[in-house]
Amino acid sequence: MAFHILERDREGALKLSRALSDAVERIGHCKVCRTLSEDEVCSLCADSRREQSLICIVETPADVLAIEQATDFNGNFFVLMGHLSPLDGIGPTELGLDLFEERLKQGGVTEIILATNPTVEGETTAHYISQMADEYGVPASRLAHGIPLGGELEYVDSGTLAHAFSGRQKIKP
Ligand code: ZN
Repeated sequence: MAFHILERDREGALKLSRALSDAVERIGHCKVCRTLSEDEVCSLCADSRREQSLICIVETPADVLAIEQATDFNGNFFVLMGHLSPLDGIGPTELGLDLFEERLKQGGVTEIILATNPTVEGETTAHYISQMADEYGVPASRLAHGIPLGGELEYVDSGTLAHAFSGRQKIKP
């Protein structure tokens, strides 16, 4: 990329470098949900039409965007900015879970949706948070794992197929 812009588009390179330095200087974290935001409170948290009692927990700001675009979820988010990884020194505090626990303590949260990634670390993180939610009597649910739309069973990995099989749902006739 560096070679390409230096050879072909030096003006574009300058624009890109200014945009990047602007972003680095101006973008911080929302103090409510921790996602990347130019303001102290991001536009989603500041939107009073959204359901404050429903919180979807994700690993990254990109996951917020993906869920916003794909679903009609109308609650709030909480962004961990990672997952539990003790070997890398990432514990509950690094994920802002003390901040999240404060929110549970205040009350008013009626459901938590755990949308961390279906990886070992993501599952561990989801399990940890579900225990925390349980202490405050808040029900937590996990995203379903399954077969991709348009996929064929014989090509699906065995872990996904096993999850999909055990998580099967009744169909309406
Ligand atoms: Zn926010």
